[in-house]
Amino acid sequence: MQRLGRSWQRAGARVGLVPTMGCLHDAHLSLVRRARRAVGPRGRVVVSIYVNPTQFAPGEDFARYPRDLARDCGLCRAAGVDVIFAPSDRQMYARGADGDFSTFVSEESLARGMEGAARPTHFRGVTTVVAKLFHLVQPEVAIFGAKDYQQAAIIKRMVRDLNFPVKIIVAPIRRERDGLAMSSRNRYLTGDLRRQAVVLWQALQRARAAVRPPGKTIPAARLKAALRRFIARTPAARLDYMEFFDPATLTPVAKVRRGVHLALAVFVGGTRLIDNTRL
Ligand code: AMP
Repeated sequence: MQRLGRSWQRAGARVGLVPTMGCLHDAHLSLVRRARRAVGPRGRVVVSIYVNPTQFAPGEDFARYPRDLARDCGLCRAAGVDVIFAPSDRQMYARGADGDFSTFVSEESLARGMEGAARPTHFRGVTTVVAKLFHLVQPEVAIFGAKDYQQAAIIKRMVRDLNFPVKIIVAPIRRERDGLAMSSRNRYLTGDLRRQAVVLWQALQRARAAVRPPGKTIPAARLKAALRRFIARTPAARLDYMEFFDPATLTPVAKVRRGVHLALAVFVGGTRLIDNTRL
């Protein structure tokens, strides 16, 4: 992959990368279209498909995360992807003669709250694998989804702090008709759980409505309590965290007003779902 990426660069081709964990859905394909738009018809679009073990903690769903490379390849081909990069764990995390893989990249400020607090080793795995993908593919632009808002902010910070010559584009969240954010993990939602999963979207809508009047502010603690009660009315839902924060710095705010960002993680049955929106 690195040899190919370098040859494209030498030839002056523009290269766009869409990192994914596979089991592709329409949101992934919207990132592919965004990449194509960024690099043009003569550019190269690479989709990486890799379920990265270092971003999963023991007890999370690494082993059962849905994988369907054959189907993904068909979708990528139809979407005009030039190269699918689907490395193995051994290729990505070599066990060389001098021991195991032992170098990690970690962002140490934006990664502290929210997903980072709930999943303490998660972002270190993400920044490490994305740094590796950037070195391997050597893209000029990489596309990430706003569904993982904190992740996108951390990647932007890593790129700035470590001088990666990569432009980061953040594409909007794609949703199902009822508002549920698209996710490979939605496959876990069987039977009535799929219907109950709409509670994340409904909670975001409630928060939006609460600060819709221009100039209106509400104490974050009060709005959190109301949303917590609302989520508790869905029997299969269990709130993991909810945070109102400044969209630029990711720092929590005490007063919620229009323009503030809301992110939440909710277990629906055994499935952990995340979502976020600008209010
Ligand atoms: P994943 O395969 O879940 O790791 O996601 C790969 C990329 O797709 C990440 O940049 C995600 O933020 C993005 N993505 C996943 N779901 C959505 C969605 N519903 N809307 C927009 N982007 C998404």
